[in-house]
Amino acid sequence: MIAEIVTVGTEILMGNIINTNAAYLAKKCAQVGLDMYHQTVIGDNKERLRETIKTALDRSDIIFLTGGLGPTDDDITKEVTAQVFGLSLYEDTHTKERIEDYFQNIKAKIVTNNNWKQALVPEGAFVVDNHNGTAPGLIIEEKGKMAILLPGPPGELKPMMEEAIIPYLEKKQPEKFYSQMVKVLSVGESRVETLIKDLIEKQSNPTIAPYAKIGEVHLRVTAKARDAEEAKQLMAPIIKELEERFGDNIYTTKEEVTLEEEIVRLLKEKNLKVTFAESCTAGLLAGRLVNVPGASSVFEEGFITYSNEAKNKMIGVSTNTLEAHGAVSHETAKEMALGAAKKANAEAAVSITGIAGPQGGTKEKPVGLVYIGVKVLDSIETREYHFTGNRTKNRESAVVKGLTFLRERLLQVK
Ligand code: ATP
Ligand code: MG
Repeated sequence: MIAEIVTVGTEILMGNIINTNAAYLAKKCAQVGLDMYHQTVIGDNKERLRETIKTALDRSDIIFLTGGLGPTDDDITKEVTAQVFGLSLYEDTHTKERIEDYFQNIKAKIVTNNNWKQALVPEGAFVVDNHNGTAPGLIIEEKGKMAILLPGPPGELKPMMEEAIIPYLEKKQPEKFYSQMVKVLSVGESRVETLIKDLIEKQSNPTIAPYAKIGEVHLRVTAKARDAEEAKQLMAPIIKELEERFGDNIYTTKEEVTLEEEIVRLLKEKNLKVTFAESCTAGLLAGRLVNVPGASSVFEEGFITYSNEAKNKMIGVSTNTLEAHGAVSHETAKEMALGAAKKANAEAAVSITGIAGPQGGTKEKPVGLVYIGVKVLDSIETREYHFTGNRTKNRESAVVKGLTFLRERLLQVK
């Protein structure tokens, strides 16, 4: 079944409110197994709302309308929707009582008359109680189409979705979406797409969708199935195929596992401690690793050596090397990794030295040039990278490449 979201409110159209309801509803629809091809934001205008609802009904089975259910004159969603369906409104006694109770509970001194407008419901509609406000939600089912009307405040909309709407939809829609994430390193986005073009072209269930991240590409494999077991069976051959194509470049097939978690896991498995010597990333790499709870079992100390002097003083990079090759060089990266490992008494070390920009680049050493050194046990290797982003992105790219490089080396440890 195809769902569609119509968010009502001039405030959203003007950018005064962020449309978090649409994002929330879209996610929930996916979980329930509904397809979604359109979402609309429309102002508080009867004529335009009427047209929007008609269009939505033409192309979708279920329309979520949010906002504009309140008591004021600009709250028109219910009236207009009922009109499009050709339904008249009547006063629902149960809802009226609930509104009375609500005002009594909050000890409202004055209840303005327009509040009773919220007790009007379209004939035949299913009324969903609002435990956090006055406007009830409504489900209208007519001629094979469904409109689900929900109040705008997220604190009212979300509980209604969780408690009433989702269970209602699940009964109608026996299949749900399940997904698994294949996370790929070291292969660029366009290359990934090329490598799986044939799979994407013939996909139906499951589907594969690539998402580019800094230094990573995530492939979301999504299956439509009755339960998790069936979904797993549907996804297994695709996951296997992806594993064959990307091999060791895949660091996980679990959505919740991050690159830094995988690194911590590997370090623990190999029983190694790591340290970092960071110039242009200045702690970003260490910070990324300690995102992982329990990182202390593999990481004790790191070094921020931003200036040449610090590189020499803190981790013993020789002044000769710095003078002869410069701070941004294979040689300095190598001495940084070796020096840090020694100082921290760690078996593994990653060093990063580069030009993050926007200033400081030269013809020989342009902005985005970064050297990374990785020492693991007796091996030491340095690599040259060229990043093309702004300062923030270059620093983040360096961190991901540092972790990627370290992982590569750790995989070689027996
Ligand atoms: P009320 O009874 O409060 O008037 P309503 O159903 O009429 O509720 P709106 O008047 O459209 O809803 O919006 C009320 C408030 O709910 C907004 O001021 C805003 O804070 C929040 N809200 C509305 N729509 C959205 C949305 N799409 N995403 C996030 N918040 C929203
Ligand atoms: Mg309102």
